[in-house]
Order: sequence, then structure tokens, then C-alpha cells
Amino acid sequence: MTDILVKALAHQGNIRIMAVNTKESVNHLVTLFDLYPTSAAALGRFISIGYIMGGMLKAKEESISATLKGSNEIKQLVMVARSDGTLKATISNPHVTMVHPITGKLDVGGAIGEGTLSVVKNLGLKHNFASTVDLTTSEIGDDFTTYFATSEQTPTAISVGVLVNEDGTVESAGALCIQLMPGHDEADILMVEHILENLKPISTILKEDGDVISLVKMLFDDTSILETKEVKYECDCSYERMRKGLSLIDMVDLKDIIREDQEAHIECQFCREQYHFTLDDLLEIKKEKEAVHEHRIH
Ligand SMILES: [Zn+2]
Repeated sequence: MTDILVKALAHQGNIRIMAVNTKESVNHLVTLFDLYPTSAAALGRFISIGYIMGGMLKAKEESISATLKGSNEIKQLVMVARSDGTLKATISNPHVTMVHPITGKLDVGGAIGEGTLSVVKNLGLKHNFASTVDLTTSEIGDDFTTYFATSEQTPTAISVGVLVNEDGTVESAGALCIQLMPGHDEADILMVEHILENLKPISTILKEDGDVISLVKMLFDDTSILETKEVKYECDCSYERMRKGLSLIDMVDLKDIIREDQEAHIECQFCREQYHFTLDDLLEIKKEKEAVHEHRIH
């Protein structure tokens, strides 16, 4: 269950290209979350760009998280992408089917509505970089283009797409990102504009020829591939991590759970793994919280 990410340069390094094929990951999410078509398109586009942003990270411990908040049926999309090529994500409403009345296409922009896109880069312990932009079209690709232009001052073109079959499975999915690097000139800009004008939607290209490497090679005469790597959907949850999350809830709420439920079932929002906490576990967490509280008072 792996997809392929390609990194390349062209025009003497003035143009950076990244592309990813995400069919396997998006189909995995369709099954995992029982995604309906518009939710699948939204989350699929979101993680396709997520893999690319993960690919832009350098050091091993770096990660990037993005949260898109909307005003309509899809209220929230969240993802965390790591520099090792793994990614996890979740969607607030997996059961959205909304078709645009005029185009007849899946209406991701309509399902999200107005809102914001927030990106946090975790660059090791010392540096954190957070930025929020208003959504423009809410079609996701455009919104990340806005993010790159305003928050990173990097002219970026993004083509992202998910083609959903009649039966709800994904036929093709992926993203292409072309960036102008510092030092680019007018000729580079014209070349990128020319390519984008003539480019078919990425989901169409990947449907016809699923190979993302040949897609990148055909873009520019002098494309040089820097790296191809496997990327995959992977959650990093654990009993310990869930226990820590549980220990952060209010003491009042914890006491309520102990009194009324005498146990707790927690489902990971990224992989749906179930974690069970017994009454003893809960009492132990309560004891630990009380100890911390005492420590603060004295
Ligand atoms: Zn998980």
C-alpha cells in the first residue's frame, strides 16, 4: 500500500517539481472512513498536497500539519505529514456527496464553503512556523497556492485531483507542484505558464498513464529527477499516547466517566484503532492527576 513521490529540478534549478501518485492511499481512506465521493475527493486532494509538503521537509524529525476549516458540510480536514514520507489524516464528515449543479463535478468547494487553512511546520525543537490564510475557492489546490504565495513567498502552481468511480472507489489521484525558486527569470515564468495552460487535469493524466515519473519527465526538456520515494499512509498512535490524551481531560469529566461508565473506549481519529481503558486504568490516571495537582499547590 505505497504510493510514489517524485522530486525533480528543471531550468538550471530555477524550477522545482514535485509530483505524487496517491491512488493507494486515497483508496485506503475510502475503506477506512467509508468516504462518500465528495468527502473522498476533498480528503484525497488534501493528503496529495500533504505528501508533497512532507517531501519538502529536510531533517528526519521534521513534520508538517495542516488544518482546513470550512463553514459547510465538511467542517474540518486535518493531516500530519512527516519527512520520512508517511502521513495521517482525518475528516469531520466522511459522508458527503455534493455535485456541482452546473459542472456536474464533485463540488468540493461547495461542500467546504468559506474558511481558513492553517499550516504548522514542526522543524525540530527550536523552530516552529505557523501560518493561516483565508480559503479562496475552497477547492483545496487553489488554497494551498495562496498559502505558498502569502506565507512562504514562493510562486507555486498546484494541480491536484481525485477521480472517483461510480462504485465509490478511486480511479486515480495525485498532485503536481511546480515552484519557481529564488533566482528564476522571466523565461522560467513564461515556460511554467505555457506548461500549465496545456496540462490536462492530473487525475486524467494519471488515469491514462499511472506513472508519475514519466509525467514529471515530460514536463520540461531538461527535467532532472532528484529522488523518487515511496510514501504511505501510516498512523503513529499508541496506548501510551492515548493514555496521555485521556490524562489531559478535566478532572470533573474524568470523575464523571469513572462514576458513570467505569471504563473508556477511545478510537483514534486517524486510523480508527480502538483503545480500551479499564476502571483500574482510569483510577490510576485520576491518582496521577491528583498527585500533579498536589505538587502544584505545595
Ligand atoms: Zn491511530
